[in-house]
Amino acid sequence: MKIAILSRNRSLYSTRRLVEESLNRGHEVHVIDCLHCYMNITSASPKIHYHGETLEDYDVVIPRIGASVTFYGTAVLRQFEMMGVFPVNESVAITRARDKLRSLQLLARKGVGMPVTGFANKPDNVPELIKMVGGAPVVIKLLQGTQGIGVVLAETRKAAESVIEAFMGLKADILVQEFIKEAGGADIRCFVIGDKVIAAMKRQAGEGEFRSNLHRGGTASLVRISPEERRTAVAAAKAMGLNVAGVDLLRSSRGPLVMEVNSSPGLEGIENATGKNVAGMIINWTEKNQKPWKTRTKGQ
Ligand code: ADP
Ligand code: GLU
Repeated sequence: MKIAILSRNRSLYSTRRLVEESLNRGHEVHVIDCLHCYMNITSASPKIHYHGETLEDYDVVIPRIGASVTFYGTAVLRQFEMMGVFPVNESVAITRARDKLRSLQLLARKGVGMPVTGFANKPDNVPELIKMVGGAPVVIKLLQGTQGIGVVLAETRKAAESVIEAFMGLKADILVQEFIKEAGGADIRCFVIGDKVIAAMKRQAGEGEFRSNLHRGGTASLVRISPEERRTAVAAAKAMGLNVAGVDLLRSSRGPLVMEVNSSPGLEGIENATGKNVAGMIINWTEKNQKPWKTRTKGQ
């Protein structure tokens, strides 16, 4: 196969591993920085230009689009799709996953379990919003946050009201969510490829912290997941239309709850925690499933 990896930085662990495993399997592979692509998006025969050349004859594109370049990155990916190149994850699915509200609404429609979550732009009645998700303690999340920044645990109704009002005063978009105490500061990252969870790790928050992000001092370890957790993770990835996804679950007393579905899940944490060749599995899955023009949306 001739593979394009859409990534801003070839020295990132995940990009390097995908290149390595592509080469190991005898494929031709190029790392393409989407911000350096330029194109005539109105042409009936779509093309992508890159460093003075046109990108041609690719079979597969593996998008590794960072959150900050979602808009331009998915436009470049759509152009690949309109050229018939097989996307490992489709542009619409990535756009969907990047929109937290849209994601939660889609998961709800498919009956996937989630923490009770409320959203409001300007609630006239903040106490009512808190009550709607079951009362304090609640978790308040900035929609734009990543790596646990902007995720706050408010233990009392008073604290929750103050935090919500403060965020709203800053015109920030927020979610208010039921706090899953019994998760014990841990979450489970399920790495889904196709219709299987191929690796899973548990991330445990540091002492005195409820956020398990590795960037916040969390530690990762191998974990065995239950059949219900497996089914939930696969259903969540499927609801989003993602072939490759990182599904984050909380273990609650009412079963697994999906917190987030990530469309460019990192490989370093999961490969180190599990010892599995996740990059190789992505390439193997791609070999079996790629086909020209095999996108549901063709960029729409
Ligand atoms: P980010 O996308 O910035 O990582 P998350 O929504 O994943 O933010 O939250 C960060 C961490 O906080 C999670 O990994 C989890 O450990 C913890 N957490 C988030 N939401 C809840 C919740 N509703 N109940 C319990 N813990 C939570
Ligand atoms: N019409 C698009 C699709 O092919 C987007 C729909 C959606 O994400 O809800 O799925």
